[in-house]
Amino acid sequence: MESFKVALPGGFPWCPRELKNEGLSWVKDSSCIFCQIIGEKAHGSIIHRDELVTAFMDIRPVNPGHLLVVPNEHTADLRALDEEVAGYIFKIGKRMARTLRETDLNCEGVNLHLADGSAAGQSVFHTHLHVIPRFGGDGLGFLIHGQGHVSPSREELDETAGIIMQALGEDVA
Ligand code: AMP
Ligand code: ZN
Repeated sequence: MESFKVALPGGFPWCPRELKNEGLSWVKDSSCIFCQIIGEKAHGSIIHRDELVTAFMDIRPVNPGHLLVVPNEHTADLRALDEEVAGYIFKIGKRMARTLRETDLNCEGVNLHLADGSAAGQSVFHTHLHVIPRFGGDGLGFLIHGQGHVSPSREELDETAGIIMQALGEDVA
């Protein structure tokens, strides 16, 4: 993969100082549509850009205002994404959500959604956070709502928690 450099005007008012790098460069996959948009090799309706992330309109919005917050550096999914950048994506997503509620779109709520892996519904393999405006009665909904009918025993929940904690290296007993 190539390294891509671009000069960004106007500084990075939303980017915390400790996250800033020396150079404005990030890893680019030239076959990736989101890298192409970030690198201005493909059209995108860009809302925000700083050193770490770019936000642009989803080309097939599920509701008006549906946008994506995308790390500038190409990582196919969450596994390789830097933890600081992951947090920063959420920070910008939060800012976008608040902004959407203040617009004339009259958005009544917002879903933040990230699909990590094809089994989770990911179709573009450059990590991205969906910011989806919601309106009462818009008919959208995650299948997970109302699907949690199974009530495992406390022992079963603890057993599953133990598997995850072991992998994390956590011991909170
Ligand atoms: P996901 O299925 O979670 O990977 O989401 C991928 C999203 O990227 C979908 O909502 C697509 O509509 C959107 N998308 C795909 N190509 C483009 C593009 N060229 N510009 C903007 N959004 C895109
Ligand atoms: Zn990419």
